[in-house]
Amino acid sequence: RQAQYRRLRSRPASTKDAQDVQMLLNAGLMVDLPHLEEAGAAGIGLFRTELQFMVASSFPRMAEQEALYRKVLETAGERPVTFRSLDIGGDKVLPYVHAFEEEENPAMGWRAIRLGLDRPGLLRTQIRSLLKAAGGRDLRLMFPMITEISEFERARDMVEREKNFLKKHGYKLPDTVKLGVMIEVPSLLFQLDELFSVVHFASVGSNDLLQFTMASDRGNTRLAGRYDPLSRPFLRVLKTILDKALEHHVPLTLCGEIAGRPLEAMALLALGYRSISMSPSSIGPVKAMLLDLDVSRLRARLLPRLDAARPAGDMRQFLRDYAEEQG
Ligand code: PEP
Ligand code: MG
Repeated sequence: RQAQYRRLRSRPASTKDAQDVQMLLNAGLMVDLPHLEEAGAAGIGLFRTELQFMVASSFPRMAEQEALYRKVLETAGERPVTFRSLDIGGDKVLPYVHAFEEEENPAMGWRAIRLGLDRPGLLRTQIRSLLKAAGGRDLRLMFPMITEISEFERARDMVEREKNFLKKHGYKLPDTVKLGVMIEVPSLLFQLDELFSVVHFASVGSNDLLQFTMASDRGNTRLAGRYDPLSRPFLRVLKTILDKALEHHVPLTLCGEIAGRPLEAMALLALGYRSISMSPSSIGPVKAMLLDLDVSRLRARLLPRLDAARPAGDMRQFLRDYAEEQG
């Protein structure tokens, strides 16, 4: 199997009916970087910056943050890297930070951009590190757990202020700075027009979006079967987001775990997703799937099932049957 996947590395990620797919990597630490080459990924679709903070025993200083980001960009070379600002808090507490309090619903608690905006020193330091590390290159940065557009705008203002600060002090700025959001809180579904008119790009965080849409804790095994990403309501959510992104010509990626599962990825492609980001070990299996996939034909069969007033059987089974039929 491994050898078979390695042979696929050099083949362009294009479906049987010639639809190009951007296959990206989820990463977060230096050890992930060699996978970029090994797996033949087109870039890093999600760089989880909190991992550096979670493996450290004290707060990573600005210089340490900058060094990691620089290394990541250097390793990626021409390939795009999308950094995500710190997603700590909630269940990702840092032992050396004392501001955290026990929360009843940590996933819905004081985490990610909420913490970033309330304790701006932290986010400001990170933004400055990123801007410095990306001097003379392109910087792509997205913010997690955005719930209202104003939160993105405040974060964007912070980036603007840091750019001005660095410029004033003679630092080389990035050639381009592209800012985006993770779409992972359902409130954004009702602000898509506004959202897509202010961001440069977006990425669907399907892990959180699924648990919040289905009100089912993603880590609770007793709820297994109650948060099926292939359920009709969730597929409709994913389609709604993609259709809006296309309408606004905003590049959209999906970076949750489902992008790395062949059957789920198949459904994503059928919905129209053309950029997916996944863990290194998933690239081979997903690529093997898409090389054999006639995605237009699948789409023509899947969409009517999605729109039908009454569910016509199980979506997972339908996808399995289609995959088998294709060989
Ligand atoms: C997600 O929520 O889908 C996601 C990619 O982010 P994380 O798993 O780090 O919350
Ligand atoms: Mg998330």
